[in-house]
Amino acid sequence: MLRLVFALAVFMPIVAEAADRPNILYIMADDHAAHAISAYGGRLAAIAPTPHLDRLASEGALLTNVFCTNSICSPSRACVLTGQYNHVNGAFDLSGRVPPGEQMLAIEMKRAGYQTAMIGKWHLKDEPADFDYYCVLPGQGDYLSPSFRVRGDRPWGENTVHFEGEHVTDAITDITLRWLKEGRDANKPFFLMHHYKAPHDYFENAARYESYLADVEIPEPETLWTRDPRFGSLATRGADDELIPHVGTSIGDRNPRRSYLRDLPALYPREFPPNYDPADFSDEENTRLAYNAYLKKFLRCVKGIDDNVGRLLAALEDAGELNNTLIIYTADQGFMLGEHDYQDKRWMYEESQRMPFLVRYPPAIPAGQTLDTIVENVDFAATMLDFAEGAVPASVQGKSFRSLLESGREPADWKQAAYYRYWMHMAHHDNPAHVGIRTKTHKLIYYYGCNQDGGYQTPAGWELYDLVADPHETRNLYDDPASAELVIGLKQQLAETRIRVGDDGSHFPECEKVVQEFWDYDEADRTRAIEVSHAFLARRLKELEDGKRNVLTNKGHVGQ
Ligand code: CA
Repeated sequence: MLRLVFALAVFMPIVAEAADRPNILYIMADDHAAHAISAYGGRLAAIAPTPHLDRLASEGALLTNVFCTNSICSPSRACVLTGQYNHVNGAFDLSGRVPPGEQMLAIEMKRAGYQTAMIGKWHLKDEPADFDYYCVLPGQGDYLSPSFRVRGDRPWGENTVHFEGEHVTDAITDITLRWLKEGRDANKPFFLMHHYKAPHDYFENAARYESYLADVEIPEPETLWTRDPRFGSLATRGADDELIPHVGTSIGDRNPRRSYLRDLPALYPREFPPNYDPADFSDEENTRLAYNAYLKKFLRCVKGIDDNVGRLLAALEDAGELNNTLIIYTADQGFMLGEHDYQDKRWMYEESQRMPFLVRYPPAIPAGQTLDTIVENVDFAATMLDFAEGAVPASVQGKSFRSLLESGREPADWKQAAYYRYWMHMAHHDNPAHVGIRTKTHKLIYYYGCNQDGGYQTPAGWELYDLVADPHETRNLYDDPASAELVIGLKQQLAETRIRVGDDGSHFPECEKVVQEFWDYDEADRTRAIEVSHAFLARRLKELEDGKRNVLTNKGHVGQ
């Protein structure tokens, strides 16, 4: 009896409070670039509309300047869960993990009186044990007939449920709908992380979308074809452009090691002519075939997500919970969809660095807002905890932007630059390591060109883009005399931002030596970078000759 009284005394106020707080449904897709959501406009909006996602924007807020701090799966997920940058949470690369006891967002939501659940793609290795409920894909998981890991009698990873014949996007939605119906504690609001695997490559759409966009010529980005000689730097082009084939995987056959032209004909033969042999077609025709296969498979996966988000919204509406649920839609990062003849993410270029961010909660967030405040993925946790009236531990580096969403006004002391650091180097998709900042008007990228141990060097280079005059980042202004003062100011801002976020060079001292060596980028540095370019080219040609198609230069790679 005493025990019961105690329980009532503790829980009654929480329940009373909980009634005023929203449920929180955090939907995160994988690699769903903002420019593949029609609410963001762009070249794909007319041919591949996403009406259910657009509804979140029209009935809530659409944020245009939300950025990941490291455009790769596990690291970005770790930022969202911990509210920390990767040099603090330790998830530098794809080996990144967040062990039980450190899954901050789940822990604090529970402490705030929320029932917590994690459903779908997790990709942080360890058991999501800090959630009340989980049903997660092992690693990347399968697109078709997926299995999921659940809590059970056996050790983590061994208790599974299987969805024979189902597409993973449908299965994840089914699991969530069942949990909402049967798994809920009626006395608590819920915090649900609902993470789609789609549209991560290699793409497999549900069979019902096989004819979607079949007869459509997908609009192309201009930069797929024309590489402005002012785009990029010594880091991405090499001396006299000698590294253009070896930096960044390509759509066509620019990169001899990895391209979609190499990969996709065997994976998606239906997207290519019968008995397809690239030798029978021109370079331009081959690139166009690979591009269309890529975009169609990607957009069919996106269509599956949009339809399933429609199912979620309808179910919440039927249950009378739509308007007391804060709904966020985002992705772990963006994706290059052929811009600059690049595929995949990892880059700090706009299409990869930007995350979509749509949020709907009619009681507090006015409808139809478009907001351009600079937000980073480390800010998500603090914001959701703010809505939940939970505590934000001192370990969290991100800040809440709840007041922005409610008022449309940027907080007076809000950051003016997003920090970025891609810690991996020339792995999988041949992207050199880089660090930089993005303001509302400019982007400064520094490719220091080495792995975490300071090795496998590629030439260092700096890039500056004016995002107002040149939103597609085609003209590197770093060496433009008219930008000299701007460069000095932004470099200073980058150095200050590194200090603000705690990326002080102590994590990988050998790497930091290289970062410092080429920071000034004086004539001696440039001469040295040209030597590095030649040396790297020789090394890469040797690797190709030796048949090493999958050159790994970082420690601890486990899938993508
Ligand atoms: Ca991803």
